[in-house]
Amino acid sequence: MTESAPAKKVNLLDLSRREMEAFFLSIGEKRFRAEQIMKWLYHRQVADFDGMTDLGKKLRTLLDEKCEIRVPTIMHEQQSADGTCKWVLGLSGGNAVETVYIPEPNRGTLCVSSQVGCGLNCRFCSTATQGFNRNLSTWEIIGQVWVAAKQLNHQQNGMRRITNVVMMGMGEPLLNFDNVCSAMDLMRDDLGFGLANKRVTLSTAGLVPMIDALSERCDVSLAVSLHAPIDEMRDHLVPLNKKYPIELLMAACQRYQAKRPRSSITFEYTMMKGVNDTPELAKKLVKLLRKVPSKLNLIPFNPFPGTEYERSDPEVIARFQKIVYDGGIMTTVRRTRGDDIDAACGQLVGKVMDRTRRRREHEAKLKEQADAA
Ligand code: SF4
Repeated sequence: MTESAPAKKVNLLDLSRREMEAFFLSIGEKRFRAEQIMKWLYHRQVADFDGMTDLGKKLRTLLDEKCEIRVPTIMHEQQSADGTCKWVLGLSGGNAVETVYIPEPNRGTLCVSSQVGCGLNCRFCSTATQGFNRNLSTWEIIGQVWVAAKQLNHQQNGMRRITNVVMMGMGEPLLNFDNVCSAMDLMRDDLGFGLANKRVTLSTAGLVPMIDALSERCDVSLAVSLHAPIDEMRDHLVPLNKKYPIELLMAACQRYQAKRPRSSITFEYTMMKGVNDTPELAKKLVKLLRKVPSKLNLIPFNPFPGTEYERSDPEVIARFQKIVYDGGIMTTVRRTRGDDIDAACGQLVGKVMDRTRRRREHEAKLKEQADAA
């Protein structure tokens, strides 16, 4: 496994099945090698050629010369009492992202990041406070699933521990379209992680033209971060709304549904005390969501240091849910998970990177003092 700075060799985690086949043909090998290697990579999480025991020595040497298997490094790991796992994963260029695993009785959901930081500036989001740094490459996205699968012993006794992946971590996935789609292809490929289309979900803040592009490219579930049923409020909470207001967003969702009738759409609504949790807004939400057959997921706000918002009270959330549910919209409330760890998206990576920076500064200062002495 290579964990250091980027080299010029091809990283096999960057390749789709077809690209992998083309790669093997280009080095004078047979096409079937792609299937053989992908099984080692994605079904068994083996990341060094010596561990691929059915490859001959000559081929292993050739692979060592021509390509590599680079995966993210684990910088920090937290496990909550409720089984939620959170990793800060180191990437090239000294960057890091968060990946979270949430186990439930009948499924295990992995929340994956698509960018280092995010530039969309949603006001209630911890990741937004870090600003935008860069897009992740395909290997950095699929590599998060790879690391989680390895750590969780994914295929234990024939049972898969990761049953769902949501592109809902740090970043706006539709602003990293090509790499996110390539990684989602590998999540759904039988020789990759083999997840059903509907078990891979892309979450967007509402980038209307790219929702249309997604409907042409991928058959995955869609989640839309709505958070307010009226433009005035959504302009404030999700500034992207000023460019793509609610009416345009709902029309894009309708088009997505028409193009991908088997894919589901979920609207995400973070519940913030005294901000967007009144009965009047719940009624407005019902009117809005009737236009797009969908589910509503109410998310109790996860506070983080420096935020101006608080989580809505449980009885307020229950009242809101009832109004929307009675209005005919399937509505769930996300259980708050990992409350004993840094649960808000982007919170842990901020802390770890801050600690890393402080440690580097401290070490530099010590070195300076030693040089001066
Ligand atoms: S909520 Fe999502 S889109 Fe908005 S700033 Fe945070 S990471 Fe970006």
